[in-house]
Amino acid sequence: MAKKNNNSFKLIMILTLVIVGLLAAIIILTQATKEDAKSFENMPDISGQPVLGEKDAPVTIVEFGDFKCPACKAWGESAYPQLVKDYVDSGKVKFVYINVLFHGQESALGAAAAEAVWKQNPDVYWDFHKQLFDEQPTANHDSQWITTEKLIEIASNTEGVDLEQFKADLTSQDIVDAVRLDSELTDEFKVEMTPTIMVNDKALTDPFDYEKMVEIIEQELDGE
Ligand code: CA
Repeated sequence: MAKKNNNSFKLIMILTLVIVGLLAAIIILTQATKEDAKSFENMPDISGQPVLGEKDAPVTIVEFGDFKCPACKAWGESAYPQLVKDYVDSGKVKFVYINVLFHGQESALGAAAAEAVWKQNPDVYWDFHKQLFDEQPTANHDSQWITTEKLIEIASNTEGVDLEQFKADLTSQDIVDAVRLDSELTDEFKVEMTPTIMVNDKALTDPFDYEKMVEIIEQELDGE
């Protein structure tokens, strides 16, 4: 009888340990998921924003970026081309860029120029966008390099941009409003770092963790 009680006690202990272990695993897994991305109630409203890829692609990726930001240039040269190849070209993801002005006047000038190109010819927006990031110096990026002269030079090297229209638009109210709209979205989604990458309504904790981004894209494609 005593032996039987002892066995029951052992069984209860083992079961307790198993249950505690499972609960711990569930808590750790849940936390890991939470740490990979921050969920919002909605995805950003992308009306009036440049879109790369199929308009009706099921997943939307928004980059909150800044032409003056070296990490944005690095992301644009690493994760971005891979993302385009893996998901945008196949129509599963559309990519949207929203301007963040964390580096002051130069950020604002770069943003205005990109908005001006998009306004007059959306087809060449991404060409201008890439050229502007290409011009960011790899060393001493804090030195002033986004100037009106530089932007006009890049615009003149972008096929399909009317230069006089571009110059007029740079300081127009439409463009001021477009840049302000982006700043409002930056505030709404509490963007604190650039680049901030959102997959639908989820902001990635580490925009450079491509595998994690793929995992979240696949979850969103599965409708999870
Ligand atoms: Ca915009």
